[in-house]
Amino acid sequence: MLWLKPTQETTEHTGSYYAATANWQTDYPPLKGEVQVDVAIVGGGFTGVNTALELSERGYKVALIEANRISWGASGRNGGQVIGGIGHNHQQFEKTIGKDGVKRIYDMGVECCEIIRERVAKYDIQCDLKWGYGDVAIKARHMREFAEFKEWQEKNGYPHDLEILDKQAIKHYVNSDNYMGGMINENGYGHVHSLNLCIGEARVAESLGAQIFEQSRVTKIVHGALPEVHTEQGVVKAKYVVTCGNAYMGDLEPKLACRVLPSTSCVIATEPLSAAQIQQTLPADIAVCDPRTALDYFRLTADKRMLFGGLSNYTGLDPKDLVGTLRKKMLQVFPELANVRIDYGWSGQMGIGINRLAQLGRLSDNVFYIQAYSGHGVAPSHMTARITAEMIAGHAERFDTFAKVKHMSWPGGKLLRRPAMALGMMYYKILDEL
Ligand SMILES: Cc1cc2nc3c(=O)[nH]c(=O)nc-3n(C[C@H](O)[C@H](O)[C@H](O)COP(=O)(O)OP(=O)(O)OC[C@H]3O[C@@H](n4cnc5c(N)ncnc54)[C@H](O)[C@@H]3O)c2cc1C
Repeated sequence: MLWLKPTQETTEHTGSYYAATANWQTDYPPLKGEVQVDVAIVGGGFTGVNTALELSERGYKVALIEANRISWGASGRNGGQVIGGIGHNHQQFEKTIGKDGVKRIYDMGVECCEIIRERVAKYDIQCDLKWGYGDVAIKARHMREFAEFKEWQEKNGYPHDLEILDKQAIKHYVNSDNYMGGMINENGYGHVHSLNLCIGEARVAESLGAQIFEQSRVTKIVHGALPEVHTEQGVVKAKYVVTCGNAYMGDLEPKLACRVLPSTSCVIATEPLSAAQIQQTLPADIAVCDPRTALDYFRLTADKRMLFGGLSNYTGLDPKDLVGTLRKKMLQVFPELANVRIDYGWSGQMGIGINRLAQLGRLSDNVFYIQAYSGHGVAPSHMTARITAEMIAGHAERFDTFAKVKHMSWPGGKLLRRPAMALGMMYYKILDEL
């Protein structure tokens, strides 16, 4: 592990492209004294903010309590790719939730992108939302997998066109010699300035009456008929609590902590590219992922920087030379960018669960949790927020489809969990190369 080092964090935003180009600097007050609401929400990323928004739209009195700044965690640091689907390989849950449950999760995986489309339009959120996405193939078997996935999507009534392209044709979208082809989704998936989306959604929630507190770490949740959420300087008394701290929640609720493994991923952003460089790289301005466990993901920002992510690992540590290591990866895909300056480099933590399905459930009758999107959560978090609000409003069917699925603890206990999983990821990386 010589090439890794611990991540340095403060309670302000990390030095990302997103933080440098945020539309607003949020400055909500810390929680002080006692507040009484219907629902207290712990954690102000996409999950917490959208739960607050959905509940406020339904007329609930809400308090959102964030340890740092709104969207300080994964939601303000990610690749900005708006990708549908919640979890992986849903058929594995058929025994527990039936064929109907599998289809329900599939449908929610489509709806989650539509929530973003509608929300951005309805509330006029300025966040550079753009549609267009491609999966790219490194191996012949990836092309077969894309074709199977396309057929499966079409059987399930996927409402957007999917197009399989060969090595030559994919270059109109991703101009790299690295790929054997790909699958393009022009209208269903896309990309977004994720920090501006999340902050914009928080402002909507606030305008609908939600109270937002920043720089207020929740130190204790007291379960009971009227649960309490405590911070150093205040307490929120509520009818319901929803925890949305995900990979950053530590041991606040130990039952949850052992089911989610915080995993690191890193991102760089270049200086703005010229028109010629855009033609040599991403001429169609789509978001792109390859299908490996430790994948590369990339896209252009609105000001035409290459935002390139990868180096995912289960150690929870940063590479010692994050920018240099990720730049090398970017140049393997786009050697034409050799002379381009890198302006930003940062990392973040995402929550991984063993079965790779988002975890939703009840810690007690009135304390609920949402966590562990296991990879992409930008769009799925909008769905889990919606069905949690539906459940609090008395319609639990969609929430319970998820809640019925049991989530195991990561093996190895607190001390050995990480090394065991780091070895596990190494195994999958080797499989990726076969
Ligand atoms: C580098 C990176 C790239 C990614 N790229 C993509 C991508 O391109 N597309 C995609 O779909 N997904 C991507 N993801 C995953 C996606 O960003 C996450 O799944 C999603 O943002 C999770 O949102 P969240 O609100 O659940 O968690 P977070 O955004 O992590 O928010 C949790 C919040 O809870 C707060 N918190 C924790 N504990 C407490 C406490 N005790 N008291 C108060 N507050 C607390 C934290 O401060 C934090 O702000 C990426 C993730 C990373 C790290």
